[in-house]
Amino acid sequence: MSATNQSSPFYTALERALGQRGKKIEDICPPDDQIARRLLHDYGAMFVAHQTVVPPPVCVFDDEDAVTQFQKAAGRATTTIGDAVIELQPEAMTALLRARAAARDEGLDITPRDGAEAARRSYADTVRLWNSRFFPALDHWIRAGRLTQPQTETLRVLPVNKQVSAVLELEQGGIFFSKDFSKSVLYSIAAPGTSQHIAMLAFDANEFLDARVRELLADNGWFQTVLSDLPHFTFLGLKESELPERGLKRVEVDGQTFWIPDVA
Ligand SMILES: [Zn+2]
Repeated sequence: MSATNQSSPFYTALERALGQRGKKIEDICPPDDQIARRLLHDYGAMFVAHQTVVPPPVCVFDDEDAVTQFQKAAGRATTTIGDAVIELQPEAMTALLRARAAARDEGLDITPRDGAEAARRSYADTVRLWNSRFFPALDHWIRAGRLTQPQTETLRVLPVNKQVSAVLELEQGGIFFSKDFSKSVLYSIAAPGTSQHIAMLAFDANEFLDARVRELLADNGWFQTVLSDLPHFTFLGLKESELPERGLKRVEVDGQTFWIPDVA
């Protein structure tokens, strides 16, 4: 982490938000762990959410036990939308259902993308999603002549957290692991153990292209906070006007508004 990061609007807001919970930044994310910091910059908006939200105790969960313990402590609410059983933190669920009711009043809807996985995920879910990008990309880059068979064999057997570091390093050289191999894997899925879905503060909506739906979600504290992950909304429990003071900066991409950690 550079000194610039530390005095940035996001770090300032993060320090304040964690301080209110009796925590310091280094408690959740070791300063010397570059990967954890990168992940914090990509997904960190949830850590500056409203006080009623329970953020994860760490930037990266190590295993299923830690995730289970956190999800139990945070509490979860369940609802069924269509065929999908959706689980979220209670505040997040209340706000989502409010947004959905408002949408339906206007003849619109807010529905989960890819079933139950649209909301709460387990650690194992995040590993499975990781593998769904990691393995096909290895095959692709062998075919493209950018990685050799022995190189990929080494990568395949690494522990999953080491795979993440290795992938982020390869991506610096243009060997990308997203679904279409054109951008960082982190823009299409979260690294194992880091997802806002694990925190039960994320919902992937089918109707993300509808500007009015996005507006209704935002009115209820749900915002797009992960650049390029278009269907993905994060529950912050805040008004849009409060986001800058939480160290989030507004970025427009293809006519959609993202609120991302301002670490510059
Ligand atoms: Zn998502």
